[in-house]
Amino acid sequence: MTITPEREAELLASVPTGLLINGEWRDASDGGTFDVQDPATGKVLATLASATSEDAMAALDAADAAQDSWARTPARDRAEILRRAFDLVQERAEDFALLMTLEMGKPLAESRGEVTYGSEFLRWFSEEAVRDYGRYVTTPEGKNKILVQRKPVGPCLLITPWNFPLAMATRKVGPAVAAGCTMVLKPAKLTPLTSQLFAATMLEAGLPAGVLNVTSSKSASGISGPLMQDPRLRKVSFTGSTPVGKQLLKDAADNVLRTSMELGGNAPFIVFADADLDRAVEGAMAAKMRNMGEACTAANRFLVQAPVAEEFTRKFADAMGALTLGRGTEDSTKVGPLIDGGARDDVHSLVTAALDAGAEALTGGRAREGAGYFYEPTVLANVPQDAAILGSEIFGPVAPVTVFETEEEAIKLANSTEYGLASYVYSQDVNRMFRVSEQIEFGLVGFNAGVISNAAAPFGGVKQSGMGREGGSEGLNEYTSAQYIGIADPYAV
Ligand code: NAD
Repeated sequence: MTITPEREAELLASVPTGLLINGEWRDASDGGTFDVQDPATGKVLATLASATSEDAMAALDAADAAQDSWARTPARDRAEILRRAFDLVQERAEDFALLMTLEMGKPLAESRGEVTYGSEFLRWFSEEAVRDYGRYVTTPEGKNKILVQRKPVGPCLLITPWNFPLAMATRKVGPAVAAGCTMVLKPAKLTPLTSQLFAATMLEAGLPAGVLNVTSSKSASGISGPLMQDPRLRKVSFTGSTPVGKQLLKDAADNVLRTSMELGGNAPFIVFADADLDRAVEGAMAAKMRNMGEACTAANRFLVQAPVAEEFTRKFADAMGALTLGRGTEDSTKVGPLIDGGARDDVHSLVTAALDAGAEALTGGRAREGAGYFYEPTVLANVPQDAAILGSEIFGPVAPVTVFETEEEAIKLANSTEYGLASYVYSQDVNRMFRVSEQIEFGLVGFNAGVISNAAAPFGGVKQSGMGREGGSEGLNEYTSAQYIGIADPYAV
């Protein structure tokens, strides 16, 4: 289906451009704005109000005022709102998909996939909202009773990155709504439009004023700084880069805030000689090229066992070299642009340094001339173990391949990073799956699977990839605190 300029303009005109504070869309207190551009063309798509510190405080005022009554709202009512929001996002799936493609660049087919994945957090947490169980047990001594109930943590600050504009918001807003928390959402300034439309959808689904406030802004720290110093804020949930996450953890220490941190990754993709190679290539394409490689779960290092290294790398390079670059709205496009010029230059510097260190480009290795921030899908062979590209989050369509001999060596190489988010293992030996999974230090393991994100599963990292889990039953716990009531022996009266 061809996307006409009229269709794009009509959709963009339907996106609220203001700040959402206490159920109303308003201008920034200083009248400030910022532009959002299309990374495929560099053209401005929309101009949004840019929240100031004063606006952030007004958003927290609203969240704080709504907290008590929201926490007392029956779980079934909160669940119904999430379920209606899920239905509304489904109804507008094409709008959400096109909006993400316009502001973020990924091909429409991938944006549709994100609508499915992202909206599922609304449905999942609508189901979890009514299953927030406590417990009642007798102490081991056999006399007193233990009663445990879970309570919402209180007003939250939710900070999201630009790469999954819908899913990163629903992964936080879904459980916060389910748990009975109010919130201030601060989307990334590069892709805030999807969050703006999503917030409008939440209001339409019946979310009361003040529960969700949205402060898009060109100054991220101008929002997080004052909010995190205010004792009314109880939690910060952040998805983004490890350096910013570390800074926020330091800031959170002042008021001992609850924190959830979904940070960067450096995923190994391990191919053993007993793997089904065609399946491994298919998985490698998915794990590498989803979101043009701009994913925290993106396979960043391909570790291939020596006997199959040449065949795997050749098939993989052929598949990567056949991908068509273009604007995400075109049907033929398999690879969209990177998010901006800086991102493209960073990817190219890593490739250039690897080539200088002796790696060989089997395909790609260049930025595309002309408008937009396009980078060719690239496969690098013979990458030296100490090359910077193996130690950095590439965040682009580049696959460095290295060769290993033994299972022990593969595990050692996989673990040789400060990150610990996603990992992938291809083998037909199920005993190996257990051995390797137990020994690799990653929060997620894909076994013969290149894409494993699912709303029903706990998503999150270890080491410097963060703390806390999103999705699964674990996702709700991030927004609740256990309260223990100790009850004296009822027979001792
Ligand atoms: P980023 O850290 O630059 O920004 C993330 C968010 O933090 C944005 O909203 C940004 O405006 C805000 N921010 C930036 N500086 C800030 C500051 N000093 N104080 C407060 N907020 C600040 O990350 P990004 O470039 O938007 O996203 C890419 C990164 O996100 C990658 O490292 C990727 O791995 C990571 N990521 C992780 C996950 C996960 O689930 N672990 C998911 C997606 C992305």
